[in-house]
Amino acid sequence: MSPCSGCHAGCCRSFAIPVTGADILRIARSESLSFWDFVVRWEDSSGSIAGNYVPHFYFADEPRTPFAICLKQVESQQFSGTRRCRFLDESAPEPGKPFGTARCGIYGSRPSACRVFPTRFESNSPLVVLNQVPERALPESAGAIYQLCPREWTPQDVDVIDGPQDLAVARYEADFFQQVAAVWNRQVLDWKLFPDFLQAVYSERVRQAKPAQSLEEVRETLPFAAPAAKPRRRAA
Ligand code: SF4
Ligand code: SF4
Repeated sequence: MSPCSGCHAGCCRSFAIPVTGADILRIARSESLSFWDFVVRWEDSSGSIAGNYVPHFYFADEPRTPFAICLKQVESQQFSGTRRCRFLDESAPEPGKPFGTARCGIYGSRPSACRVFPTRFESNSPLVVLNQVPERALPESAGAIYQLCPREWTPQDVDVIDGPQDLAVARYEADFFQQVAAVWNRQVLDWKLFPDFLQAVYSERVRQAKPAQSLEEVRETLPFAAPAAKPRRRAA
């Protein structure tokens, strides 16, 4: 059973969750929400949100401040004075579970950052490694509700097919979003224009190929080698 089953989800309470444009469009579509319902920009001068993957965006009202685009957080409905991701569904405390249990309210559409936690690709390899999850991401004084995983993750907790595939998608989307940031940061426009900008960029992600002029050109567009005109002789 995954360590997440029955957990109170300290991760969804502790971390600023960075989102890519693809995450934003997917959640907006699946939950019928507007950008402003669930996206915020978090000042990230220290780079602690960005790490090596998340791009910084700059906006006209604070042109020198780097921002990371993240999921909105709200106050917990069960544990006042504490915070949580706005999509976290919480339950009330119960015997043996002082912080209840919690589950992602948008599990099928959750962002890549949530999907791949706590894994990464091994450097220069397609293999997946589990990062060590610390006991907590916030100081102890913040409260026990922010404690992370109740037990250590093991390789058996990660699906051998979904794990690497989720990481591959996360890497692709992170690279794409870096390019989106490079385009946005050329002009440094107003934050309120950001949703329309994203919509415009992502609506151009799939393009029509130029009509092929010959059979050879058609073959070149196929993702896999087209079969030879004559069947090849099979070796015994
Ligand atoms: S989107 Fe879901 S998994 Fe991600 S932080 Fe929010 S509640 Fe947790
Ligand atoms: S804190 Fe760890 S075990 Fe709990 S929900 Fe988050 S990733 Fe899963």
